[in-house]
Amino acid sequence: MFALVGKPWQWVRSWALWSLPGHVLTYVLIVDILAAATTGAMIPVLPVTRADGVAAIILGACAIAHIELSRGIERARKLTSGVGPFVDSLTLWDFAAVLVLPPAAASGLIVLTHTIAWLRVWRGRRPLYRWVFSDATVLLATQAAALVLLAGPGPNPGVPAGLGGLAVILVAAVLRWFVNYALVVGAILISSPGMRAGQVIGEFGEQIIEAGALGLGLGAAGLLNYNAWLLVGIVIGLLALHRGVLLAQFRTSSRTDEKTGLHSADWWHQIAERALDRARIDNTTLAVLMIDLDLFKNINDTHGHPAGDKVLRAVAQAIASEVRHDDATGRWGGEEFVVLLPGVDGRELGAIAERIRRRVHVLVVPITTDQGPKTVTDLTVSLGGALWPSLGLDTIDDVVLAADSNLYAAKGAGRDRVQLPQDLIPTETDEHPDQKRRQPDQS
Ligand code: GH3
Ligand code: MG
Ligand code: MG
Repeated sequence: MFALVGKPWQWVRSWALWSLPGHVLTYVLIVDILAAATTGAMIPVLPVTRADGVAAIILGACAIAHIELSRGIERARKLTSGVGPFVDSLTLWDFAAVLVLPPAAASGLIVLTHTIAWLRVWRGRRPLYRWVFSDATVLLATQAAALVLLAGPGPNPGVPAGLGGLAVILVAAVLRWFVNYALVVGAILISSPGMRAGQVIGEFGEQIIEAGALGLGLGAAGLLNYNAWLLVGIVIGLLALHRGVLLAQFRTSSRTDEKTGLHSADWWHQIAERALDRARIDNTTLAVLMIDLDLFKNINDTHGHPAGDKVLRAVAQAIASEVRHDDATGRWGGEEFVVLLPGVDGRELGAIAERIRRRVHVLVVPITTDQGPKTVTDLTVSLGGALWPSLGLDTIDDVVLAADSNLYAAKGAGRDRVQLPQDLIPTETDEHPDQKRRQPDQS
């Protein structure tokens, strides 16, 4: 008997949920309990008729078809998505449900379809509490939308008619989106204190997919009353868009260096190649700066790798903020950065490099260590520059290599300095450094 009682208890005690830090656990439990309470409270508001049951079955069938046909896409999409809230395309069916069904049936359908999605797509890939939490945010958002629809002009349940009806639907949609988004962003920020709000909210562009899903949900709700067979068109459209979104996501992720938000080395290289082609045609110049943090290993060794990562991010931002918006800044690898500066001359190149060097020197980077919060200061970088056109520089790799060997010359000369090509360095006998500026026709 005790064994029977003991087992479920042991099972509950083994949940990964309990390993969450106290404040995160409190947040998650409050959201879960609020969702259960509001959903329960909304159940008796409207009776569920036979027609509601039929509509729920049709929407459920579409949602299940969508889950089954997009399993592979969803997994790949999650793998490549950023740190912001993950946009769930089931939103379409969730929103159609809240529009056409009484709250009890809509909530039931949401729990059912999301459970199926978890079993078929996410099980074993995400802990159960994460799934329960994300469903709780959807249910809370759904009840908020249902309240707006109930308060608006009838029919209840049903799609309110006319322009006034559209306004009510829009308010319901925005509220549904906002409640869900805010709760998830809150969870991310609470559970990863090192993450900047901007980093999470910076993925905001992805929310356009959520807007699209809500819009299609409205279409699905309309079609359901008109000719439910036409919902097949919505499923096909959704799958096609889904694939399109995935491709775009792959592209962005391969273009961006996750750690710093700068261009990835590959993508920077592609930009640089195109810029060199353009410089040839336009008969102008193209400079490359290679920048390497000095003795960065010491920072990792002293404060740990996560602190090192924060420093990398801060230096990346400092570099990007000292150059023009369209000067491509990339992470070349490790603690080495690269900047592409089209159209500058030797003097400007020297001035920009010097500006970056000084800016990094005054950086104050807050970090968290085992001994509590600290700051990292007195950072230095070494910089090497190269300017096209110059003798012997033909391809972008030649220019990068020249900048790189100047960078190592700067390191050799004692670090914390800028090394430009010899013929760009003004000497005391140069009355007019401008005369030394390389002109495109000198190549
Ligand atoms: P130098 O002035 O000669 O460049 O010295 P350094 O210590 O900066 O150079 P070294 O090449 O010896 O070490 C680079 C260090 O950068 C070693 C490596 O652990 C660290 N590193 C590379 N990538 C990352 C990263 O993504 N995050 C962190 N935290 N450290 C990194
Ligand atoms: Mg270094
Ligand atoms: Mg290095």
